[in-house]
Amino acid sequence: MIEIEKEFTCIVPDYLKFFKCDWQYCGAACCKGFQVDIDRQTHQKYKSISDQNLRRKILDSLEWNKSTKTYRMRLENAICPMLRDDLLCTIQKNFGEEFLSDTCADFPRRTYVVDKVIERSLSLTCPIAARLALMRKSPMKFEKMTFKTTHAASFFYRSVNEVPTRKYLVILQQIAFEVLQDRRMTLNERLTALGIIFSEIDGLIINGKGEHLNLIFGIYRSEDYFKNLTAKVRSLKFQRENYLSIMFELAEKIFSKAVVYFSTEQRNFTKYVAEAFEFIDETNKPFPELFRLYDNNIKIYKKIALDPFNHVLENYLVHSFFGGIFPCHMSGSLMRNYLLFLTLFKFFEFGLISMTAVIKEDFSIDDLLEFVERFSKRVDHATKFQQIILDYIINFEEYPLEVMTSLIDFAI
Ligand code: SF4
Repeated sequence: MIEIEKEFTCIVPDYLKFFKCDWQYCGAACCKGFQVDIDRQTHQKYKSISDQNLRRKILDSLEWNKSTKTYRMRLENAICPMLRDDLLCTIQKNFGEEFLSDTCADFPRRTYVVDKVIERSLSLTCPIAARLALMRKSPMKFEKMTFKTTHAASFFYRSVNEVPTRKYLVILQQIAFEVLQDRRMTLNERLTALGIIFSEIDGLIINGKGEHLNLIFGIYRSEDYFKNLTAKVRSLKFQRENYLSIMFELAEKIFSKAVVYFSTEQRNFTKYVAEAFEFIDETNKPFPELFRLYDNNIKIYKKIALDPFNHVLENYLVHSFFGGIFPCHMSGSLMRNYLLFLTLFKFFEFGLISMTAVIKEDFSIDDLLEFVERFSKRVDHATKFQQIILDYIINFEEYPLEVMTSLIDFAI
């Protein structure tokens, strides 16, 4: 069977070139808990394997998936049946890398195509990738790269018809990265500043003036604009009651339908929320009591995670924006994309706040990275999870400022 190698030029974070898989370090983490789709060409290869026993073993491990219209590995206890006891892959060991499906051969690389723009990054579900992407103290940089592959079938094509921001993806991402990496502001101020800037740009795009974005980018970089922007950001007041209501409502919706902090293959993160907010015996608490607990938890979070690992969280924000191809992540306006991005991050942070409040001084960078992996698995692989958040936040789409003041604690 002839496989055609094609060349692509794409935008990548500069850490990507240093990635090297080390299955011994992670215990072949990507063969556990993931759905592996088998592309048509790879399925044909499996059907043509001459060793009858191995052919049967592989084909019997596949099941047809109606929604993706592909064959999938049937996981056994959330583990790929091709994973051997020595942590090697049965298929790769017997037939070489060229017999791996596009999904397996390309993982943890994720490639998105939006119009003519191709963006490639690493999934933070891979522990090596997470370390590489998040640990560096200097701001994450991006560059153009050319690569050749026979696995283009694993690319994700973003349907762009209903995404008005698609024509401006690159410049909007540049603006987002400059704001999210502007260390003159706290992380929460940067998130707010991004919301304010995007709400201004949204109006331009809707009125057909998106072509002027380059010019406007210059204005955003001026000292005067920065002064006004930070004054606006710092005048906003955090709505603590709304924040707690939103986080608990989301947690309830998500825990009941798509468990987000817990999986059988990793540690149980769910208990931290209940412990941090002392929901041991009761399910309801008066707000003054919740405020007291929140204030205590925030103090610990700031000391143990936010301050020492500020660069990790900054990298996580930037990487999530790029890797999720925001602001073209989903159909709808620039602000809808921003609100989803903000809420996802705030829900991630809520888990982290709860975890630090329970673990306290013993909290380490390994805990943080493990939580990143767990959360990324939900974001990257459980579409229902994002849909629940989106369905919730879309109710408030007309009131972006209220959403920002309800989610962002300007004091930290
Ligand atoms: S999780 Fe990452 S390091 Fe581990 S086997 Fe998969 S790609 Fe390699």
